[in-house]
Amino acid sequence: MKTIGLLGGMSWESSAECYRLLNELVRERLGGLHSARCVLYSVDFAEIEELQVAGEWERAGELLARAAKGVEAAGADLVLICTNTMHKVADQVQGVLSVPLLHLADATADAVLAAGVWRVGLLGTAFTMEQDFYRDRLTARGLDVLVPDEEGRALVHRVIYEELCVGVVRDESRIAYQEVIADLVRDGAQGVILGCTEIELLIGQEHSPVPVFPTTRLHAEAAVAIALQS
Ligand code: GLU
Repeated sequence: MKTIGLLGGMSWESSAECYRLLNELVRERLGGLHSARCVLYSVDFAEIEELQVAGEWERAGELLARAAKGVEAAGADLVLICTNTMHKVADQVQGVLSVPLLHLADATADAVLAAGVWRVGLLGTAFTMEQDFYRDRLTARGLDVLVPDEEGRALVHRVIYEELCVGVVRDESRIAYQEVIADLVRDGAQGVILGCTEIELLIGQEHSPVPVFPTTRLHAEAAVAIALQS
């Protein structure tokens, strides 16, 4: 089994979920007492969020690149950045590694295409929904990506940072997200990417009329498939 390196803590609420999924998926595949071989570097998310808000992506990238070198030195055979947003600095991180970075947008695009969906809604932080780094990676695979309107984007972003990243899961927010999803479906979305690693703590398949693509789970599934390749 290969060793999976995780850059986590963004937030730790979703990294904990990723860690649980990795272990469950390995146990499902190998049975018995098997669990995932992994190395986790968990950052202080407050530092990262400050850099995001200040637009200091280069410095955030340096911080994650240092962390990535740490997990590689600790034996990681592949590396995951456990947040969609910080894939803004994925190239900077991959640049210091000699092992592969498993890009979350690629794992997601694979799953969306495998489901036969080509017009897909994207929920995530404002950075992920409004900037190019993530959407372009999806459109390069032939997907048509829809994002919520300005009000919807602000709501989705606020709930991520003020609630989900601090472990708060509210029914009111779930209902509000369902309304945003309904708007995307009305605009033609055939599926919705939960493109922030905490959203699947709030929204499951049962809350959407179209298929949802939960990025923490999809990342963990792709990582385990690689880790167990013989
Ligand atoms: N975990 C979130 C994501 O997947 C947001 C936190 C962050 O800004 O990294 O984008």
